[in-house]
Amino acid sequence: MRIKLVHHKYDIVIVGAGGAGLMAALRARQNGFSVAVLSKVHPTKSHTVAAQGGINAALGNIEPDDWQWHMYDTIKGSDWLADQDAVEYMCKNAAESVLNLAELGVAFSRTSDGKLYQRLYGGQSTEFGKGKLAYRACASSDQTGNAIITTLYNKTKDIKADFFSYHFVYDLILKDNQCIGVASWSVENGNIHIFSANQVIIATGGYGQIYSTTTAANICTGDGNALCAMAGIPLQDMEFVQFHPTALPKTGILISEAARAEGAHLVNALGERFMSKYSPQFQDLACRDVVARAIATEIAEGRGVENNHVWLCLKHLSKSLIKERLPNLFENTKEFLKLDPSKDLIPVAPAAHYTMGGIPTNIHGVVVPGLMAIGEAACVSVHGANRLGCNSLLDIIVFAESAIKYCSENIAPGQKKQDIDYDIFKIEDLLNKNGEFNPQDIKIELQLIMQENVGMFRTKKNLESSLKKLQDIINKQFIISDKSLIWNSELLEALETKNLAIQALITCYAALKREESRGAHFRVDFPVRDDENWLKHSLVYMDQDFNLTYKTKAVQFTPLTVDSIKLEERKY
Ligand code: FAD
Repeated sequence: MRIKLVHHKYDIVIVGAGGAGLMAALRARQNGFSVAVLSKVHPTKSHTVAAQGGINAALGNIEPDDWQWHMYDTIKGSDWLADQDAVEYMCKNAAESVLNLAELGVAFSRTSDGKLYQRLYGGQSTEFGKGKLAYRACASSDQTGNAIITTLYNKTKDIKADFFSYHFVYDLILKDNQCIGVASWSVENGNIHIFSANQVIIATGGYGQIYSTTTAANICTGDGNALCAMAGIPLQDMEFVQFHPTALPKTGILISEAARAEGAHLVNALGERFMSKYSPQFQDLACRDVVARAIATEIAEGRGVENNHVWLCLKHLSKSLIKERLPNLFENTKEFLKLDPSKDLIPVAPAAHYTMGGIPTNIHGVVVPGLMAIGEAACVSVHGANRLGCNSLLDIIVFAESAIKYCSENIAPGQKKQDIDYDIFKIEDLLNKNGEFNPQDIKIELQLIMQENVGMFRTKKNLESSLKKLQDIINKQFIISDKSLIWNSELLEALETKNLAIQALITCYAALKREESRGAHFRVDFPVRDDENWLKHSLVYMDQDFNLTYKTKAVQFTPLTVDSIKLEERKY
């Protein structure tokens, strides 16, 4: 088979067309850069479309609010592992970013006097945790991600960024420790495209698919993280994976936290509202790690329903309110369970949801010269050990804008790019190998290992045995019987499964190393937070033979302009 190579040159190449990639593309075009946006799916099918509950900004439209209260909540939510300079940057810029989105045309829900509607959300308070819960999440009913991504896509198209959809980026091209481009496979026509760029920006999203029960779609395989790991760039804080408390059992279909924000509450099989036991102050709106562990504990101690779920009760809310504020929830419970949330209890259980770790960056998104990372792929780090609901949409927008601001100060549109002499060996080699293992089977195997042993509750014994199994998995060669490059779903699955295996391995290894419990990382054998030894980020390096090396990095405790948020016991 002859493979056709197509060469391109752009000022900025963005890998990923979710909220982060599109926001960066829009701002880059507005700053006069030539921009290519590469995506393995159509941009509006990127996972951002699934975001429901909202995006945080201390606008104070319902009750008084302050960005410094938001900063405090974010750091407390992170269990003090977030970098305080990055958190200050995000919270301070939140209002401007959200108002800009509204100006671009994002259809946010409004109050009767025309202001942006804001709802309560988990772990969000006022007066530095001492006041009432905060109305901080701006939302478009429970379809906020859809509203953001469709607006950004249309605006970016209008301003003529070049979109390359159904392009799978499988290689980062580095020369003398600088990133100079990427290689992508056009799944539609089988050509290999080489993009030379002055700046490559990874915006490939999270890797929730390492678990079998997850709210993350099949495409969430964290490809950008794996590309960086294979290029010798470390991944940071990978042990921290958030389990969302409320998904439909076994399916991972999300029941948004917006439901509890609008007044729903959890009950166990005995009909007890149990959250006050675990969180006297915030109750059903405590941080996600706290609520998810509470649900798992109720089930483990025999107060669950059918030993695998608890109930979410919305029966005291009117049907009209549910339909207006939570239309997704209304449709999903009707479609998948044949239930009416205004009359029936909804079964819920935790599911893997969000990956706090990723590619380490500074607040400008810089990873190494020529390479930036933004969005869920990046670890800037504003989420630390646990992300607050509605802070991810904010993170993807604020840091996409920050990255392009940095580009506009450091590279000029039209600046000379390198000629890339690319060897297509990597993809041909994979296609021609005669492995023994079906990528789909391997994916299922690794997801089960992660779900059972590297999930919400972790022990040394389980982590050690899982690490061995994952080390075995990562060396397995896949069967690829289809030898063409046009819509070769087997090859696609092989590439994605390899990427998942890399991240599963690193997640498990980092979880084994961290001998404490912090945020979403809970070690049954080390159940307490240990600031003396573990108030630090993890960095895991991988070599070409998948050997791992562990290092740590200090947490940035000094914000940009305000006083630091001092360590406290984390109670809700
Ligand atoms: P994504 O939107 O995942 O986009 C990744 C992009 O990268 C896609 O375009 C994909 O095609 C591309 N890509 C990936 N790999 C490759 C490759 N190899 N080659 C080419 N392209 C590639 N957060 C909130 O703040 N508020 C919420 O209400 C909220 N609700 C959520 C609900 C659900 C069900 C889930 C799962 C998450 C939710 N989140 C929410 C989290 C938030 O939606 C995500 O963290 C965020 O949208 C990620 O955006 P992103 O742009 O980084 O990545």
